[in-house]
Amino acid sequence: MIAIPEKPLYLINKLNASGYKAYIVGGCVRDSILGLEPKDWDICTSATPEETATVFDEFDKIDNGIKHGTVGVIFNGEVFEITTFRSEGIYSDHRHPDNVRFEKNIEYDLARRDFTINAMAYNAEEGLVDIFDGRRDLMHGVIKCVGNPKARFNEDALRILRAIRFAGRFGFILSRDTKAAAFVYCGLLNEIPPERILPEFKEILLSRQAGSILNEYAGILKHVSPVAEGRDYSFLNTIPHDFSLRLAAVLCRVASCHTQPEDMRPDIKKLRLPSDVTKEVLSLFLNCRRGIPTSKYEIRKLISSYGIKFVCKLKHLYQVFGGRNSNTYALFEKDLTDILRREKCFNVSDLKVNGDDLIKLGAHSAQIGGILNALLENIFCGNIENDRDSELALAASLIGE
Ligand code: ATP
Ligand code: MG
Repeated sequence: MIAIPEKPLYLINKLNASGYKAYIVGGCVRDSILGLEPKDWDICTSATPEETATVFDEFDKIDNGIKHGTVGVIFNGEVFEITTFRSEGIYSDHRHPDNVRFEKNIEYDLARRDFTINAMAYNAEEGLVDIFDGRRDLMHGVIKCVGNPKARFNEDALRILRAIRFAGRFGFILSRDTKAAAFVYCGLLNEIPPERILPEFKEILLSRQAGSILNEYAGILKHVSPVAEGRDYSFLNTIPHDFSLRLAAVLCRVASCHTQPEDMRPDIKKLRLPSDVTKEVLSLFLNCRRGIPTSKYEIRKLISSYGIKFVCKLKHLYQVFGGRNSNTYALFEKDLTDILRREKCFNVSDLKVNGDDLIKLGAHSAQIGGILNALLENIFCGNIENDRDSELALAASLIGE
């Protein structure tokens, strides 16, 4: 039995009371059976979108999905998607069905869904509607297409990435036929728009099983990302769940020692990441390439240029790709910990003096930037402490020069 929360239960009951069938369906049924908290509770119904809108007359609604059968009903600030049972026509573009048909019977609706574990519906009256044995596959940890996997991936190649994503999320495997079809049809992923690819790839890379998933599915993921075949990505499981860090780690693993950051750009471009993310990924890659800093001065310069968070990410790359001499990494880690524990000055804005102080000492405004930078550099070199007296004294001597 699934305990449907109060709000979706109310919506289902209201549809029933108006003479329509209604169920919770898809991810929420799957997650409930797994004992996980569903992200959202999707409802499917025999009511047409217009009928659904009439039933929920007094509710605010989002109706931009009506053409596809979905009405968003807003219930105390929470949106519930109520979708009419539907079957789908052919997919001539490998992305969308050419037409959808509203149906009165849930079987059609379940048959158009991607995987057996996602093709179950439930309501209190009928219990679990599971015509494709989704519950059994869920218990066995198997992702299996509803129907013929080749046909289903040929219709919508994004399902290939979805299969890999669910495998990564739950630690499941793809059934033999589903996996074989995924490898046959993965070339069609090139026809899927990047904005639909990115969320799937992101979740795959951030999943707990990312290392083994990339090892197994590099031959598919190479179509949509910088992942290349023939590498061992097992180390990814030990890297924190941060997208730019993990993507940079993939680049470090994929690149040969002659690869320049610019050479990686086309592969990253495929993902159409926001430009700040691309920049961070390439900077992480580049800095990892340059090798582990071997002095506190270099570490301070790095923090000054990129910030503490960035250097902490870089640390993980150094640990994996730092080279044969593990001593260098150990020393770096100790120095970094030391610096972060004791030091607070990494930029001119962190100095104990500012431009006004320098003017009072007799500096021209044109000199200020240069002098502040010189003070910072002297702190980085360990020549002076970050205290006001030392900085004023050094500044005075620099102005006098
Ligand atoms: P998540 O927890 O990631 O949201 P979900 O299973 O709810 O997982 P959604 O993308 O929200 O996934 O889709 C909801 C449901 O719609 C799925 O469970 C599945 O039944 C169906 N579905 C989604 N995308 C497809 C697709 N490309 N082809 C067929 N069915 C799909
Ligand atoms: Mg969902």
